[in-house]
Amino acid sequence: MSSTQHVVMWSGGITSWATARHVVAEHGADAVTLLFADTLIEDADLYRFNDQASAKLGVPITRVADGRTPWQVFEDRRWLGNTRIAQCSHDLKQKPCRDWLTENTDPARTTVYVGIDWTETHRLPAIEAGWSPWTVDAPLTRPPWRDKEALRTEARAAGLIDPQLYRLGFAHNNCGGGCVRGGQAQWARLLRLFPERYARAEAAEVKMRGLLGTDVSILRDRVGGTVRPLTLAALRARMEARPEQLDLFDELDEGGCGCFTEAGDPR
Ligand code: SF4
Repeated sequence: MSSTQHVVMWSGGITSWATARHVVAEHGADAVTLLFADTLIEDADLYRFNDQASAKLGVPITRVADGRTPWQVFEDRRWLGNTRIAQCSHDLKQKPCRDWLTENTDPARTTVYVGIDWTETHRLPAIEAGWSPWTVDAPLTRPPWRDKEALRTEARAAGLIDPQLYRLGFAHNNCGGGCVRGGQAQWARLLRLFPERYARAEAAEVKMRGLLGTDVSILRDRVGGTVRPLTLAALRARMEARPEQLDLFDELDEGGCGCFTEAGDPR
């Protein structure tokens, strides 16, 4: 067993599983921690995946939680998270994980692992700076190079049922499919598949617009070449008016989370 502590930033996504599998194979389960920051709005199936994957890897999940949801963070920060700035990422994931690292590890003897892959190597310098003084590694940036679909196939081959949100077409398994960075395609999918979650987010956006007294929104509308706020209510109205018209929203506007791979407080 290695004397170094190996802490995998465990999101419940497939890349964090693949990262953890690599680290466990290299250093042994006893040397590994799977550090999971709970935002309290996760898909129920994420916990099922966590339990199943954790049992297969032989490493328990170490859970940390700020205790607030992203919506409560936005109220406290008086800022509605959106595709560009999302303080929920800092407050609910990065800070609780950093606090845990501070309390439980020696930076000189600890490596932090993030689940970015070979398409994102340009982000590594900023990620390393963000987690300093801990050493950062990202095994999926090295060969053999596989995409998410290949990793899901590997997870199934390892006896896991991959997360429900992936099976439903979501790009990420976080915040119940309602990430504020997710873009129009994600929100349209959420409306179709989990209308109650969409309604909760829509109500929270309405509340934030009232609190701030400004025309803020999670999404942006680029129709006609001009960028304007696009509320969840407006997107829902478009979807309900012409649900067959998928081009009413931008299918390519489906962003990524990056909760564990950023540096510092965004604001
Ligand atoms: S997944 Fe999205 S909504 Fe959830 S904490 Fe991260 S940035 Fe915020």
